[in-house]
Amino acid sequence: MASKNLRQRVQDISLGPVLEHFKTVVFVYFVLARLIKVQRHLRARGLRTTLMEYWTWMSKNFLLLALKCLPDQRKKAEAEIANAKFILDNKFIPKGEAVTRHMSLPPKGQSSEWIASEMEKMDTEIGHTEWKNGKISGAVYHGGDDLTKILIAAFDRYCVSNPLHPDVFPAVRKMEAEIVAMCLRMYNNPMGAGATTSGGTESIIMSVKTHRDWARATKGITEPEIIVPDTAHAAFDKAAAYLKIKVHTMPIVRETRQVDLKRVARAINPNTIMLVGSAVNFPDGCQDNIVALAKLAREHNIGMHVDCCLGSFIMPFLEPAGFPVEPFDFRVDGVTAISCDTHKYGFAPKGSSVIMYRNAELRKHQYYVHPTWTGGLYASPSIAGSRPGSLIAGTWAAMQYMGYEGYLQSCREIVGGAKTIAGRIKAEFQGKLYVLGNPPASVVAFGSSDPKCSIHEVGDIMSKKGWHLNGIVRPDAIHIALTRLTVPMVDTFIADLHDAVHEARDTPSGKGTMVQLYGLGKVAGALAPSISGQIATEFLDTLYRA
Ligand SMILES: *Cc1c(COP(=O)(O)O)cnc(C)c1O
Repeated sequence: MASKNLRQRVQDISLGPVLEHFKTVVFVYFVLARLIKVQRHLRARGLRTTLMEYWTWMSKNFLLLALKCLPDQRKKAEAEIANAKFILDNKFIPKGEAVTRHMSLPPKGQSSEWIASEMEKMDTEIGHTEWKNGKISGAVYHGGDDLTKILIAAFDRYCVSNPLHPDVFPAVRKMEAEIVAMCLRMYNNPMGAGATTSGGTESIIMSVKTHRDWARATKGITEPEIIVPDTAHAAFDKAAAYLKIKVHTMPIVRETRQVDLKRVARAINPNTIMLVGSAVNFPDGCQDNIVALAKLAREHNIGMHVDCCLGSFIMPFLEPAGFPVEPFDFRVDGVTAISCDTHKYGFAPKGSSVIMYRNAELRKHQYYVHPTWTGGLYASPSIAGSRPGSLIAGTWAAMQYMGYEGYLQSCREIVGGAKTIAGRIKAEFQGKLYVLGNPPASVVAFGSSDPKCSIHEVGDIMSKKGWHLNGIVRPDAIHIALTRLTVPMVDTFIADLHDAVHEARDTPSGKGTMVQLYGLGKVAGALAPSISGQIATEFLDTLYRA
């Protein structure tokens, strides 16, 4: 009977008014939280950009809906994508009777002679781009044939090694620690900390993750945001997409090609975990104002990542080589992380980069540890579990082979070549071409100042002349990232550029692959990103078709 009484008594207590108050509090909390979010978003992006984003989003969805209802339009868009797919297939997938396809394992293993001859056959039949002729922007950071031999020897010796097991491969562990130490000294933070990764993208993903976990642990931030210049590498957006972080993309000042500092300052809010600056950026090779960005970061006690993936082994040598350079490394108070790609101007084998932090305390937030895993205590510093020790050995060997003098010389030659190109464009192409910003290192981007001349068409004509350059947007321009291979080709480049500008101006064709990929003029404006996104997805599919 007692239990019945108790139940009755509980039912008798009236929860009515309490519940009502509770509901109101919850309601007010959610409305306020929402309003704060909207207010921060508006502050970071400005009313105009927010409205533009909204408008683009609306018109995109409206057009997508319209496409569903308008068969003609839909057919046009589908034809566009099918056509792109056809072009991609033809470009990448070898066709014809002569091509042997290896779609399943050979029943018996092949001999090493057979493997070598089959590779030879693929190279001749399918063809490959002559990357040694010095007409490729970036892509191949070749340290010379002697260095290649040294890399092969390192691979040979450490082929099966795996730094996941430092007890089995102690030499690889030592080399990895030394690579990080050498980079930290190059970037003037010998007491700092770092790790090697598989490339610039992984270095950037790790840095974003580190700052996210640091901000969560020290400030309790659960809805992290980062502030990134429009010219920063797409790897920051990729990291944010993987790690569920909101990105505020900041506009660039047209003359300097540096991120707009006023806008960055306005975008900082209590959820901001880090700012980003490039030294130098990929699109136009310019450097953000690292000193000013780091000052902002310090004032707000947030992270500041300097992307030196491309600057790698060029930026630290500008000063000793006698080129002008603004501060960019750990000597700038407030810089908390720097990414440096050993596999670019460090001439290490591809698949190698270094992420550096101000101190070891910050680096702890990069690690992943699983103390109770059924496979035993698991601890790993970066994304990969097992890692190729051969790449670490190759990177270490490349750095030993080049040495300070070697990198200094390579910086002199490469940056010297870039300055010559920029100088000659300014001097010889007045009224026709202009150089974007004031690039301090190895990349030069240029656009057209003549409305009758499309810069992407200039790029297409340069392609026909054997050059592999990069088309960029906002503004339309093309860039060349100089390497040791391109240095002797500077005069040829300028001569070809003269021809290309003449041709694009006098006999414009109004089309071309660069234009197609970047302009997509034939498709309604708001849909262009969605259609080019679908084409890019087709491109990725193409990569896996045998
Ligand atoms: C190359 C590059 C990266 C990242 O490169 P990976 O291709 O992942 O090695 C990041 N930032 C800049 C500026 C770069 O040029």
